[in-house]
Amino acid sequence: MSLISGFEDVVKENQPLAPFTRLKLGGVAAYFAEPQTQEQLVGLVKRFTENELPIRLIGAGSNTLIRNQGVGGLVISMASPVFCNIEINDDTITAGGGVQLVDFVAAAVRAGLNGPQHLVGIPGTIGAALHNNTSAVGFDIGTWVTSVDVLTRSGEKITYQKDELSFSYRQSSLKDLIVLSAVFAFDREDSETLTKQMQKLWIVRRAAQPSAEVRSAYVFKDHGGETASALIEQAGLKGTRVGDVEICDRDPNYFVANDDATAEDFLKLIELVKTQVHDQLEINLETSIGIW
Ligand SMILES: Cc1cc2nc3c(=O)[nH]c(=O)nc-3n(C[C@H](O)[C@H](O)[C@H](O)COP(=O)(O)OP(=O)(O)OC[C@H]3O[C@@H](n4cnc5c(N)ncnc54)[C@H](O)[C@@H]3O)c2cc1C
Repeated sequence: MSLISGFEDVVKENQPLAPFTRLKLGGVAAYFAEPQTQEQLVGLVKRFTENELPIRLIGAGSNTLIRNQGVGGLVISMASPVFCNIEINDDTITAGGGVQLVDFVAAAVRAGLNGPQHLVGIPGTIGAALHNNTSAVGFDIGTWVTSVDVLTRSGEKITYQKDELSFSYRQSSLKDLIVLSAVFAFDREDSETLTKQMQKLWIVRRAAQPSAEVRSAYVFKDHGGETASALIEQAGLKGTRVGDVEICDRDPNYFVANDDATAEDFLKLIELVKTQVHDQLEINLETSIGIW
């Protein structure tokens, strides 16, 4: 029996990962799956774990840099509709791990649920947002969670309640788990008020970050009360480039991959910034972006 027998319809071998990331860089996944049912997802996770092969999840790929050599094992995308349901009941939203944040925010605002409007304009999916505890302007997604359904690497389904989970700056206790879906609870607010608030926040964000067409990533975590952007600027690195990867003028914590960029150049620019910030400010910047 081959490693993927029974899953041939949903698994591809040597799949380039670049199209699945915002940076559009890097090599292939040895195996790449887009399961169409939860049973297929569970079966694949069990199969690869039994064979002691690594399993990774890819959401919208906006916080992931793939190295040129690519990755072994299995990369799973939960983009199939079965993982992208949004259900609203009174003051709660149940959202699948593959739901795009933009759809989550829009659904909440329409339903008059107060909070998600603060995440307007952040690219990504619910699964990754919970994994990273995505946050903006002092609001993080973990605050609104009431429970999360996950799959362990051995294929076991578990529901964690809020008090069994922990969320902190750009991380959560869901780190090694696959987020299937989550339930969130909110206060109510008039939908029109939320829409206006969201529009204002979107205008501010749009001016501060590279547009969706630009291949960019938000690279470092803030440090000791200072934003990574301010630290990079203090080190005089605005506009620095390696090959065809450059530090964004608008906000230096975004690196932009131009036409001839490579993953190697991206990694070199990360190292250059880390070294310069360390040498000049005696601060060790930590990456926020995941590097595979
Ligand atoms: C222009 C721009 C602006 C940004 N602004 C912000 C911001 O304001 N605040 C902020 O916090 N971040 C910000 N980010 C970073 C990024 O948007 C977030 O980290 C977002 O959560 C990434 O979602 P994704 O689906 O694209 O993640 P991916 O890059 O696909 O994955 C990120 C991580 O999540 C894991 N993952 C994906 N799906 C699942 C799942 N179902 N279960 C478990 N783990 C999973 C992956 O394995 C990976 O480790 C910004 C990025 C860009 C490019």
